[in-house]
Amino acid sequence: ADQIRIAIAGHGNLGRGVETAIQKNPDMRFVGIYTRRAPESVIPSLAGAPVFSMAELPGHAGRIDVLILCGGSKEDLPEQGPRLAALFNTVDSFDTHARIPEYFASMDAPALANERTALISVGWDPGLFSINRVMGEALLPDGATHTFWGDGLSQGHSDAVRRVPGVAAGVQYTRPVPEAVDLVRGASRPVLTPRQSHRRDCFVVLEDGADAEAVRQAIVTMPHYFDQYDTTVTFISAEEMENSHRAMPHGGFVIRSGNTSSTQTQVVEYSLKLDSNPEFTASVLVAYARATHRLHLSGQYGAKTVFDVPPGLLSPKSAAQLRAEQL
Ligand code: NAP
Repeated sequence: ADQIRIAIAGHGNLGRGVETAIQKNPDMRFVGIYTRRAPESVIPSLAGAPVFSMAELPGHAGRIDVLILCGGSKEDLPEQGPRLAALFNTVDSFDTHARIPEYFASMDAPALANERTALISVGWDPGLFSINRVMGEALLPDGATHTFWGDGLSQGHSDAVRRVPGVAAGVQYTRPVPEAVDLVRGASRPVLTPRQSHRRDCFVVLEDGADAEAVRQAIVTMPHYFDQYDTTVTFISAEEMENSHRAMPHGGFVIRSGNTSSTQTQVVEYSLKLDSNPEFTASVLVAYARATHRLHLSGQYGAKTVFDVPPGLLSPKSAAQLRAEQL
């Protein structure tokens, strides 16, 4: 069969992860990076991968089966997504949970009008964790679901640390509180506050002359981001930041505990432990790009989410092969 032609819009951590992931999927071919920056300034991870200006995309509709949107959820996707969903089949990792219904509607209309398929909010959360929350609730209606994140580097909270005056560089790790995880695994259905569920550890390089205690106070009292958590701030050198905090590990658990009768308790757990959040997320996007191509071939147009995609469509294997080998 012909290879599925994949391109990316935006070349950041996630975009580089897609280039890497494609190399593990021989039924796919990487046909280009599209960027808002000067193409000659973007260095592909995949030797020889062509780099184009985003402005060339409308002329390239016949060259691409699925366009993976790798822009940021905050500023890029709400603006780029609806435009590109009118021209291409798309997959994206829009992760602003509260705004997903609005984003879905903004993708659905252009995709439907142009007979394209737009799969939104793919990745691990939203994405694989969302599927496991739905499964848990459907299978154990009398129960409780808990999601824990970490140990991992949180991009949004790291950005918030870096905006504090006096901070030259900073990263933030989110860690589940072990006692809380144990309570949830014990099926006692605890009601947990943010502080009881997660802790936040920050590593900061100070600007010359900055007041360490003032920086620490500004971080730990920051509304919404840190004030509801136990937060530590550790000051380190620029060299240590460079050597020890460049990786982007992440992961977490979705746990559903419930009762099927008054005496019988059931616990279901799904967990991820990731060395690289962007490389794993990109691998998920690539598998779902295969599914998106197949949904489109079968005439399923408009916006979709992971809830709408049968798992068999993610696999390069045929339905018959999957029945024989995996069922
Ligand atoms: P990023 O590295 O900041 O890249 C975002 C965009 O910024 C790129 O597409 C690129 O667009 C531009 N860019 C990259 N490097 C640049 C540079 N040196 N100078 C100027 N612009 C640059 O973001 P990311 O880490 O790839 O994450 C993208 C999104 O993925 C996040 O917003 C998050 O919402 C989402 N995500 C979702 C999940 C999930 O589980 N669902 C997990 C992880 C991440 P151009 O090439 O057009 O300039």
